[in-house]
Amino acid sequence: MRQYISFDLTEWGKPFEKRRNNLPQPTGNEVLVRVTAAGLCHSDLHVQKGYMDLGQEGRLTFAERGATLPMTFGHEIAGIVEAVGGDVTNVQCGQQVLVFPWIGCGNCNACHEDRESDCSAMRIIGLKQKGGFASHCLVEHEKFLVDIEGLDAADVVPHSCSGITVFNALEKMGALREDEWMAIMGCGGLGMNAISIACAMGFKNIIAVDIDDAKLDAAREMGAAKAMNSQRRDAVKELQKMADGRLMGVLDTFGGAVTGRIAVRAMSKAGRYLLVGQAGGDFHMPQVWLPQKAMTVRGSHVGNSPQLRKLIEMVRAGEIKQMPIERRPLSQINDALEDLKNGRVTGRIVFQPDEIDK
Ligand SMILES: [Zn+2]
Ligand SMILES: [Zn+2]
Repeated sequence: MRQYISFDLTEWGKPFEKRRNNLPQPTGNEVLVRVTAAGLCHSDLHVQKGYMDLGQEGRLTFAERGATLPMTFGHEIAGIVEAVGGDVTNVQCGQQVLVFPWIGCGNCNACHEDRESDCSAMRIIGLKQKGGFASHCLVEHEKFLVDIEGLDAADVVPHSCSGITVFNALEKMGALREDEWMAIMGCGGLGMNAISIACAMGFKNIIAVDIDDAKLDAAREMGAAKAMNSQRRDAVKELQKMADGRLMGVLDTFGGAVTGRIAVRAMSKAGRYLLVGQAGGDFHMPQVWLPQKAMTVRGSHVGNSPQLRKLIEMVRAGEIKQMPIERRPLSQINDALEDLKNGRVTGRIVFQPDEIDK
């Protein structure tokens, strides 16, 4: 039987291991994709560690979330269709596709309305189903594939996670007026894509916030009008000043106690705080601020399949500035995780196949 290679987690907290598996044959609506690009997401760091930080509530383990080891993670996946099941009608072998990984249960109101990200029983590819840190990935239905023929797979692959995550949150944020400002906190893979997509959606006055000056420079390149290093002691006041007293939105792609603290203090009355990052910890604020400042504090989780299709259309139309992509061989996944953990990555690391098939 033909085999394929994957880099799997076999024990929480340990490095990824190269394994050989039998290559599955797609049946029914299934599609077998030969992976040509797999993005490394910040959440893969949490996955490797085995848990997320719930502050005073302790930890949420991935085992509790239904992940079992050994597992092939990696949820930003693009590649070439290698084989299709007998019932597949819309994709062909040889076609270049991007995988929508946020598959819902299929049976709830959210799923029926294509709001998979609001489904409470998601069957995520790269968490509950085998993902893209591999030479091949079996996708359960052709409807979860988006055509990216003619595009660079490594360039567009982050849109399936970081792209639609910020797109979803920015849609929830809603438009701002000409003289209003929005801060985008955290300028990692999520934040960089957020600036680019926000500009494409028509947001103009963006302040990038991070603790790393090199990332702030890159954020300006992506389209942020201003940038602030949040390690300064007067970060709240400075942010208010930069926004001319009209900081009406904050998109937090970091999502830690520090960013939450700054966001709710710096925002103007009726401001919206959209949280997508999951660095973890506890969120503290005086409760009276919610009514008195008419504040919106809202979370948003990943994104939906119509949003991914829309984003790819925007890419094709040349509306989205490409964020920096660092291409690396998949066999270097453990080194890449270390670099991401230590803040040494600007933009996104995307794995490409190397000698792993041999
Ligand atoms: Zn992700
Ligand atoms: Zn559902």
